[in-house]
Amino acid sequence: MAEVLVLVDHANGTVRKTTAELLTIARRLGEPSAVFVGEGFDAAKEALAKYGAEKVYRVESADVTDHLVAPQAEVLAQLVASASPAAVLIPSNSAGKEIAARLAIKTESGLITDAVDVQAGEGGGVRTTQSVFAGSYSVTSTVTKGTPIVTVKPNSAAPEEHAGAAADEVVSIEVSEAAKAAKITESKPKEATGRPELTEAAIVVSGGRGTGGDFSKVEEFADSLGAAVGASRAAVDAGWYPHTSQVGQTGKQVSPQLYVACGISGAIQHRAGMQTSKTIVAVNKDEEAPIFELVDFGVVGDLFTVLPQATEKVQAAKG
Ligand code: FAD
Repeated sequence: MAEVLVLVDHANGTVRKTTAELLTIARRLGEPSAVFVGEGFDAAKEALAKYGAEKVYRVESADVTDHLVAPQAEVLAQLVASASPAAVLIPSNSAGKEIAARLAIKTESGLITDAVDVQAGEGGGVRTTQSVFAGSYSVTSTVTKGTPIVTVKPNSAAPEEHAGAAADEVVSIEVSEAAKAAKITESKPKEATGRPELTEAAIVVSGGRGTGGDFSKVEEFADSLGAAVGASRAAVDAGWYPHTSQVGQTGKQVSPQLYVACGISGAIQHRAGMQTSKTIVAVNKDEEAPIFELVDFGVVGDLFTVLPQATEKVQAAKG
């Protein structure tokens, strides 16, 4: 069975949920092989084996880890040449999409970005689904040249456990001078909020223009639920919340068990990032707000009145 390469998304060996999703998808297409770049392999190994990686290519060279993403594309190109995989799966984040584009050029292969589903194609290859025009169209594609390279959006598959060997093989690679043209000079972790990562959280509470820039009630409610905090683009553009928290077409795509939209009107570009959430709740003082067309539960009211009451109820229920 042909290998399927999965580029591991991790922070110092802590493997992100997207990798478990990609390994699950890889098993539909062939034998999953993880590509682990950076430090922390020992911490990552268990998670990679748990989700079915039969092999792990380890790349620890400073020529790769001390630079921006270009060397990683060279690593993958080398592995595509040596392993002839059935496909390469890469997380659909900004770094992943840059790596994928560079890899497609190096290997003269077809590239599909932002897939929300990947299945084995008839007669081999892959069949991907993309959700476009803010979720109003679904496009099915296949790669007709080279090795299919696919970037996959978070929450595109439910991670399935499947014991793999995760046998590691250290890969030594010659990185070109061109790929080393941009070097990392400093790397600082984000200030810890204590909240879960937005794309991985089971509950997301988001605030929009209706907060007027005061996210304190949104954050207090989120913290009572152990939720991540998201924001609409209006709130981000106003400088009220960091860009990394934006949910939507040009932000992050989330698909939690529960999504609570507070003071968000429900523009199509916002929906594109959250409409696959399992249960959607909105708090909005305008009963005509379009978000109410989408919700499972709607509360018409001022978020500064509703959220403190909800927070109190949650805390009381927790005892
Ligand atoms: P508004 O539309 O102004 O809605 C504010 C809501 O808050 C209103 O419904 C109002 O009734 C309610 N409200 C006001 N005060 C209160 C209160 N005290 N209590 C309760 N409710 C209150 N947007 C995104 O979010 N994500 C994206 O990724 C994104 N990408 C885009 C890409 C493109 C190319 C374009 C053109 C736009 C994009 N947008 C995106 C912007 C999008 O079109 C909307 O402008 C934006 O989502 C509106 O944000 P909002 O709902 O917070 O603000």
